Amino acid sequence: MVKEWSNQGLKIGIIAVDPSSPFSGGAFLGDRIRMRNLSGKENIYIRSVASRGSVGGLCDSIYDIVDVMKSFGFDKIIIETVGAGQSEIEVIFVADTILLVLSPNTGDEIQMFKAGIMEIADAYVVNKMDLPEADKFVLQLKNTLSLESETKSKIILPISAIRNENIKNIVNWIDNHFEEIKKTGEYEFRKKRRMKRRVRSSIIRNIDGIIESSNFDFENMIDLKEKIIKYICEVDKNEKIDHIGIAVKSIEDALKLYNDLLGLEITGEEVLEDRGLKVAFIKAGDTRIELLEPLHENSEISGFLAKKGEGIHHIAYEVANVKDIISKSKELGLKPLSDEPKPGAHNTKVVFLHPKTTNGVLVELVEHNNK
Ligand code: ZN
Repeated sequence: MVKEWSNQGLKIGIIAVDPSSPFSGGAFLGDRIRMRNLSGKENIYIRSVASRGSVGGLCDSIYDIVDVMKSFGFDKIIIETVGAGQSEIEVIFVADTILLVLSPNTGDEIQMFKAGIMEIADAYVVNKMDLPEADKFVLQLKNTLSLESETKSKIILPISAIRNENIKNIVNWIDNHFEEIKKTGEYEFRKKRRMKRRVRSSIIRNIDGIIESSNFDFENMIDLKEKIIKYICEVDKNEKIDHIGIAVKSIEDALKLYNDLLGLEITGEEVLEDRGLKVAFIKAGDTRIELLEPLHENSEISGFLAKKGEGIHHIAYEVANVKDIISKSKELGLKPLSDEPKPGAHNTKVVFLHPKTTNGVLVELVEHNNK
């Protein structure tokens, strides 16, 4: 197949997933050795990856590898999964077209009756048609398939790789299949299915990471659950109002309202020496109130207090990267008050935008470092 496409001048990427032990993580790299005669060609790239205990017959980073190959302009990307186990159907989420390669006299007769792996294929390639029992095997396969599905016609492509027979049929079939699924809307369906799966597996992978890296014992099960829930909430979170800054003469006095009356929880108090501030954060629903008290007459908010008195000082929005936001805001004609991010409370990086350029409201942009 690869030779066929390569002769058409196409760039081919091959991802061969090798089985590897979840303990050692090493792969046999057998596929690479097997395909050695191809790897010398300029427009063919072979990448062997270890499955590293990942279920589904692929590896966790498969989506990223495919992305990279796409961005390098490969015309065809072939993914070879670990093998023909019942559970190894992850490939349906990654690939546009799925071929199941079978051969007679290899125990594939038994494999044939295993559900799952049979159902996901778009076409069945029967290799080793040069063997004497091959025709019988094809017939058997036909019967099995017609029993399994009466409505959907299944394609069988008999070939002999060793004699280089009928390989062109596969290549033509794949190209036609791709055009066809684009017409019927199946392509869009598969693309959407892929995106959903990708989001899911990246979240699950991160949760696994949290579990593996925690000092697990039965007593801190709840801590672990909380960590996971917190992670999920972070994933779900859009850039939101991080807090509302209120300039006060005395935090202690202000707490009468927030703490004594409303019963809101104080989540942290901190002295920011270089900014001349004492700050207190109060949790209010999904966001927080930041009370700002001047430490001396030259503090960041002394001017504001002298001019306007106590009141709402700024609104802070959470952003993923303050440095990026500084350059972007300049492009948009907004005026950041510093060229570099400044340290904020609770190990954050912040920048303020001049109110003249933001509708009279001092805007603070916050990046949390502890993610
Ligand atoms: Zn603030």
